[in-house]
Amino acid sequence: ATPTAVMVATGKGASQGVLIKGGNALEKAHKVKTVVFDKTGTLTIGKPAVVGAMLFSKFSVEEFCDVTIAAEANSEHPIAKAVLEHAQKIRQKYGSRTVHIKEVKDFEVHPGSGVGGKVGERRVFVGNKRLMRSFNVSIGPEVDNYISDAEQLAHTCVLVAIDQKVAGAFSVTDPVKPEAERVIAYLQSMGISSIMVTGDNWATATAVAKQVGIQKVFAETDPLGKADKIKDLQMEGMTVAMVGDGINDSPALVAADVGMAIGAGTDIAIEAADIVLIKNTLEDVITAIHLSKKTMSRIR
Ligand code: ADP
Ligand code: MG
Repeated sequence: ATPTAVMVATGKGASQGVLIKGGNALEKAHKVKTVVFDKTGTLTIGKPAVVGAMLFSKFSVEEFCDVTIAAEANSEHPIAKAVLEHAQKIRQKYGSRTVHIKEVKDFEVHPGSGVGGKVGERRVFVGNKRLMRSFNVSIGPEVDNYISDAEQLAHTCVLVAIDQKVAGAFSVTDPVKPEAERVIAYLQSMGISSIMVTGDNWATATAVAKQVGIQKVFAETDPLGKADKIKDLQMEGMTVAMVGDGINDSPALVAADVGMAIGAGTDIAIEAADIVLIKNTLEDVITAIHLSKKTMSRIR
């Protein structure tokens, strides 16, 4: 495209909340044959809510809540916010009205699986099954049943481990964005297929994919795994767009031919992306592709 055409398109995009960084993304977006979507915060509204909680072990409700609150207060993950608020509510029912957030030492973020650290003398992990597995926290049949039940309802199960034992769990839901199904159907009508890649578990991922009309799913992938999936598709000769909102999507946003950061997102995702969809609506994936098509057809 000519510099003028690029300027016109980026200006038009900007006025609609679609920020296009330079001509390269604009020249590639119209060739996109596959759009890879992150799940949480991208296909879903990203405002998860806790719908259930369960205590599994000898730890007291207070201690279970205290370590959860301490760990999740340090996390920026939207699930962490929901879990934190819920744990604070339970804590207030069982203990003092004012909840003091305990200090976490050696706090660690494990992108795509959860967080960890030390609360007092206790070693704590809050996150999914994969996090527990990678730190050798054993999952008994009772916990496993709770997880399966939650997953069948498309709920995400957040496990809390204290000293290598699963102390309890939270069941979390995150509704899909109202426009998701419509956008995916529209892309399909343009000959563009949609794929989901997520760090979340297979059962939840599959349930959400079904709700929005996505047939191809890759779940339980870590951030570099997401990028690898993009590269695999590119190896098949496809021009691939990636739509994501989080720090965990950054490698995939960089790997994609067109990386689109959606929503307020994290600064890192915005930096890694070629296009930023600031209105947080999936409709703007189509807006961006249309802008590219128009720009490119004008010069031919
Ligand atoms: P997605 O790829 O769908 O955006 P993420 O990669 O951000 O999801 O996270 C994947 C999973 O890791 C979440 O569904 C959740 O189970 C777990 N997880 C990540 N961070 C946290 C946290 N701070 N607290 C609890 N669970 C977490
Ligand atoms: Mg996300």
